[in-house]
Amino acid sequence: MHADVNFWLILAGTLAIGWGVTSYRNEKRRQRRHRRRARYLEGVRFLLDDKPDRALEAFLTIAELDDETVDTHFALGSLYRRRGEVDRAIRVHQHIYDKASLDDGHRDAALTELARDYFRAGLFDRAERIFQQLAEEGRDPALALQHLVRIYEIQHEWAQAASAHERLCAVGVPEQPTAIAHYYCQMAEASIAEGEYEAALEHLKSASREQNDFGRAGILRGDVARKQGDAAVALQLYRRVVRRDFHLLAVVLPRLAEAARQAGEPQQFDQTLQELIRLGAGNHAEIAYAAIVGGYYDDPVILDCVREMLTIDSDLRDMTAAFLPAGIEPTRDQLRAIAGALRNVVLRHARYKCSQCGLDSSTFLWHCPGCHSWDSLRGVAALEFLPRAALPRAQG
Ligand SMILES: [Zn+2]
Repeated sequence: MHADVNFWLILAGTLAIGWGVTSYRNEKRRQRRHRRRARYLEGVRFLLDDKPDRALEAFLTIAELDDETVDTHFALGSLYRRRGEVDRAIRVHQHIYDKASLDDGHRDAALTELARDYFRAGLFDRAERIFQQLAEEGRDPALALQHLVRIYEIQHEWAQAASAHERLCAVGVPEQPTAIAHYYCQMAEASIAEGEYEAALEHLKSASREQNDFGRAGILRGDVARKQGDAAVALQLYRRVVRRDFHLLAVVLPRLAEAARQAGEPQQFDQTLQELIRLGAGNHAEIAYAAIVGGYYDDPVILDCVREMLTIDSDLRDMTAAFLPAGIEPTRDQLRAIAGALRNVVLRHARYKCSQCGLDSSTFLWHCPGCHSWDSLRGVAALEFLPRAALPRAQG
């Protein structure tokens, strides 16, 4: 009987102590949560009062991060980055990353955000190091590799861009599948500039492996053939490019003319243009426009195209009709003079527009500096009559 009483007393005592400890812990936890919430509300108040520095200090003094507060931290970090306050975004994301109590998923996300902050701040070497690490062992290697591709593009590290692009293809879908062929073409252009034609041909072979019948690679192979004295081969290559990619006509025309002259077959130039019209690749006006934009219009077939353009375009027709007696066709010399005048107008305007983002450019570029698309610039066909102040700014 006595032993029984003891047993019950001990049990009651243990339970009481256990309850006390639990209550104490709960109370402590409640107080901590309360303090966290108070710091948060303080931080939010500073944000609303437009005191981002005080807000940041308040948020960064919160020692513990739980599921609820870590989300707020991420939201705050991306808010700072969107507002261009990258140094603050970096501090927030570094703060999250330094919390050892967090699970791997949150730390991985914090590291990704940190790398994006460095990228946004233009600190590409730091961003590159972290994205490399995330590409190796992170949870979203495709995202890391997409950023690496962009970093190497910006820094013109074409070989590294190609290898990151290849790795990206293995784990996801690249934004621009043709980009890798352009990287090889960039390397080929550099080799041509150095006079290293064999190396250039190797790069072009890689480009063709990535993209079958690639217009830019065809143009560059033609350029190498011409440098090596094989103008007839160049002629065939250029011809093939414009048949397939009519939008590259302005880029190819001067080359085509030069190759036809070097090969001793000047008639091939006109034959190519007639072939384009016959195949329906482009009409007379489009060829005339490409020739004026490309700066190569002193050719009988092109001047015929210019004559057609003057009848198709109502503004140009009215203008030329004002100077010519009724029923009289302009002569070759007059057509040449008109084409020259139009070229002057064209040169003062942006001649190319990005089909993806609308960026204007006075020169042809393979890579749009606005949206980073490849081969997205198209000749602008409209000749606008604008006062100087309204002209688009020339782009490099
Ligand atoms: Zn663009």
